[in-house]
Amino acid sequence: MTFTVSGYAAHSADTPLAPFTFKRRALRADDVDIEVLFCGVCHSDLHSSRNDWGNASYPMVPGHEIIGRVKRVGASVSRFKEGDKVGVGCMVDSCQHCKACAADLEQFCEKQATFTYNSVDRQDGTPTFGGYASRIVVREKFVLRVPEQLDMAGAAPLLCAGITTFSPLRHWNVKAGSKVAVVGLGGLGHMALKLAHAMGAEVTLFTRSNGKQADAHRLGADHVVLSTDAAQMALVANTFELIIDTVPDVHDVNPYVPTLATNGTLVMVGYLGPIAPPLDSAPLIGGRKAVAGSLIGGIAETQEMLDFCGEHGITSDIELIEIGTINAAYERMLNSDVKYRFVIDIGAMTAA
Ligand code: NAP
Ligand code: ZN
Repeated sequence: MTFTVSGYAAHSADTPLAPFTFKRRALRADDVDIEVLFCGVCHSDLHSSRNDWGNASYPMVPGHEIIGRVKRVGASVSRFKEGDKVGVGCMVDSCQHCKACAADLEQFCEKQATFTYNSVDRQDGTPTFGGYASRIVVREKFVLRVPEQLDMAGAAPLLCAGITTFSPLRHWNVKAGSKVAVVGLGGLGHMALKLAHAMGAEVTLFTRSNGKQADAHRLGADHVVLSTDAAQMALVANTFELIIDTVPDVHDVNPYVPTLATNGTLVMVGYLGPIAPPLDSAPLIGGRKAVAGSLIGGIAETQEMLDFCGEHGITSDIELIEIGTINAAYERMLNSDVKYRFVIDIGAMTAA
């Protein structure tokens, strides 16, 4: 039987999110029904609700940093039982047959992954609705186990901010002593500092905000460079093996390229779209340097990241909010005024 769920939805690009009641599907044999307790607020939720990427479908229930407890499981579910502490990230399904899925890279599914919201269920064609809601029903394969020792609210942002930064750190083989830089200290940026530090890297933060230095050091940065200060930028020329750029808007990437070491890579995870001003190829060619991109991470890697965070006691620094303040939270996120991730207390919403 389908069942009724309460949540919050965007109804258009330029109206505030508002309470919304909708149906979740009847459990399939391989489904897990989860009582959502906490949901992180990703900048992607804001981009999506406001149709920044031109693909919004309304009503839209955002939220892909979901933590909760299993309420019920379908007949064939073997890995979860009622009460288990679980997480759901940005994907809820994929084709499971293509080369990408076979390589545990469901995020690059050739038939396109089914995303947690603003997507369409591949079996019944209904819209997917995310974690700003009291319950969610997800195929077992896409449900993650969350280490018991991690605080639930603080663990929520690991499901997107955590995996999006963990995956490039792993892919580009960051290890003890690697020189890594992170551009932007927001939700993704602060997780990148924590994760790179835990891997033993020497970590630098590039920020345009004067005033984040102390926090950056507390979060794991060994050095902080004010990206608007040319003299500070010059001091780190030819330094980094990997730069993770989390800036959500169009911005000049050229000043960062000279700070890459020979063979270094700058990975863009934030801004989607043409790079402007144009990227100068000369410094790339001159140092066999690369500019690359990366999208979240596969399900197996997401589990590996959660287990890594469990071992190292890593969670996000959060500000817990009531869902009624979500629109104000979006405005504060636009002003880079969040330390360092909003997490919605969905359990409190359900109780009310
Ligand atoms: P966030 O919390 O708003 O943080 C972004 C940070 O970037 C800000 O705190 C600020 O740091 C810096 N920044 C913001 N605007 C800037 C500008 N115009 N120029 C230079 N720096 C600027 O956002 P988030 O949740 O971390 O998300 C960051 C981006 O990643 C978003 O675009 C989001 O959609 C995207 N994302 C991508 C993936 C993926 O899989 N690739 C996954 C999740 C999110 P400073 O004040 O320190 O400069
Ligand atoms: Zn996200």
